[in-house]
Amino acid sequence: MLPLIAIDGPAGSGKSTTSRAVAARLGVPYLDTGALYRAIAWTANQRGIDPRNRAGMVKLTENIKLNFTEGETETRVWVDGKEVTGELRTHTVTKMVTPICEIHAVRERLVELQRRWASRGFGVMEGRDIGTVVLPLAPLKVFLTARPEVRAVRRSLDLGIVDDKEALSRLAGELAERDRRDSQRSNSPLRQASDAVVIDNTDLSFNQQVNRILSLAVERFSLKLYGVNS
Ligand code: C5P
Repeated sequence: MLPLIAIDGPAGSGKSTTSRAVAARLGVPYLDTGALYRAIAWTANQRGIDPRNRAGMVKLTENIKLNFTEGETETRVWVDGKEVTGELRTHTVTKMVTPICEIHAVRERLVELQRRWASRGFGVMEGRDIGTVVLPLAPLKVFLTARPEVRAVRRSLDLGIVDDKEALSRLAGELAERDRRDSQRSNSPLRQASDAVVIDNTDLSFNQQVNRILSLAVERFSLKLYGVNS
């Protein structure tokens, strides 16, 4: 069986780096679905559309031309022919994406694109609702998590603000709010699939968590991978 793996988890759980490393070791493509939601938020911001303007957001979702592919280090995204990859992680986009990913029409369009990507039958797809909604039949599902304070510190390291106590506490608050909204929204909330393997990586090194997922993959897909035992 070809490896098709769904990886879900909250912000700062290390999903992206881990998923990318797992995909690279298995030699399969990787998709960061958060980048697609961010691309919709980026576009809304460029066009001055308020996320609360549902009709405007539905129209944007229907008209936007979204292309994506795997890059060296991240999922690359184009909106109407313009590459926006480098503009998706700004604070403005991060703030806008939360209400936008709650809009049904947005999720419907992106879920369809994600399923089309997965229809080749192999790859590592990472997000919030992959195991529950996008690929409910994925043969291997992982739910990656870590204690909230550890996730906040990791995010602050990414952003280079770990020494700034005030910024760190603001970030922890924003992360908690994003967790709350992601888990409580009525449409595709963040939750682990009943058949997902939960990995709490609070006390795991990066290599340990990657190897844990690779071991699961070796077992589930009957693979032979040098240096990895099932
Ligand atoms: O993973 P990342 O932080 O880039 O995701 C951006 C936002 O998109 C998250 O806040 C999350 O709420 C949303 N998202 C989602 N479903 C996914 C992936 C991301 O709702 N499959």
